Amino acid sequence: MNNFDEITKVLQKNDNFLITSHANLDGDGIGSELAFYFILKKLNKNPIILNQDRLPKIYDFLPGSDKVHYLKDNCINPNSIDVGIVLDCSNVKRTGKTYEIFKNIKTIINIDHHKSNENFGDLNYVDSSVSSVGEIIYEFINFIDSDLLDDEISTCLYTAIITDTGSFRYSNVSSKTFKIASDLTSKGIKPYLIANNIYNRNTYSGLKLLGEALLTLEMDDSNYVSWLTITRRMLNNAKANDEEIEGIIDVATTLDNSEISILFRETKDNKIKISFRSKGNFDVNKFAGKFKGGGHPNAAGCLCSGKLDEIKEKILSRLFTEIKRPGS
Ligand code: 5GP
Ligand code: MN
Repeated sequence: MNNFDEITKVLQKNDNFLITSHANLDGDGIGSELAFYFILKKLNKNPIILNQDRLPKIYDFLPGSDKVHYLKDNCINPNSIDVGIVLDCSNVKRTGKTYEIFKNIKTIINIDHHKSNENFGDLNYVDSSVSSVGEIIYEFINFIDSDLLDDEISTCLYTAIITDTGSFRYSNVSSKTFKIASDLTSKGIKPYLIANNIYNRNTYSGLKLLGEALLTLEMDDSNYVSWLTITRRMLNNAKANDEEIEGIIDVATTLDNSEISILFRETKDNKIKISFRSKGNFDVNKFAGKFKGGGHPNAAGCLCSGKLDEIKEKILSRLFTEIKRPGS
């Protein structure tokens, strides 16, 4: 693995940077991208943020949100970019269609916290002991110059941390996570305003979709596994868009005794996206890996092709054999 010093030298030697994160942007992806964008601006560099997908509406309050571009044909010439920065992606294909641009950039810096990271960069900084890439970027700023940390960067990093820790509820929270959150708060951010922006701006259609999704709740006899399903028809009925699915899996996770929760959903391009959450020792990252997916031990996902009912059957029957195996 490379160190912060090596990454800093690459930043100093180059001028034009393209920053990205994974498809289906989340708070850690977008918060870390914007924090890195502001660091590069302060170093008098030219950063551009480019993602496959449009910025989810719940993150429009973030400073710099107007600087976040999403993929349109030919909007970036890879030859004009010196360095690509890929954040929160275990492999480069997680960037989605922006991969077509990044694969032509000479130098890639990969910064991530997924254990399964494939070290695909020319420089790689991967720390799976931290809650979020936001924590890594915080350490990186302190390595370069702690005076760079202002209220804008703090807002972005705090957002990265609370979204990847479920507001400090997941097993990835350490005492360091709280120390960092405390330091960010000392820079003048208002945690309640950030939380209000992210969690208290549900739309009518989003809540209708949640209602539809909850009607599909199923669980096994022992209540150990619970699952929800969202079809295109349900999205249409609720007049909701795909962004509004974010967070629905977390409601299934609140079910008492249910150790593993799953959301099956039909995507726009006729695939089935599966999200897994685990409250205990069952490693959903490993399980998702059996279907070419990945993530973290307690939150992971995969994408499958085929009919919804057949995929549900395949995944659930595989899961039930796995959890019956002694020692799993
Ligand atoms: P979510 O279920 O919220 O989409 O994702 C939860 C976690 O699993 C995130 O860390 C995300 O990066 C990872 N993840 C989700 N889908 C995939 C996938 O198809 N492939 C891989 N490698 N990771 C995924
Ligand atoms: Mn993350």
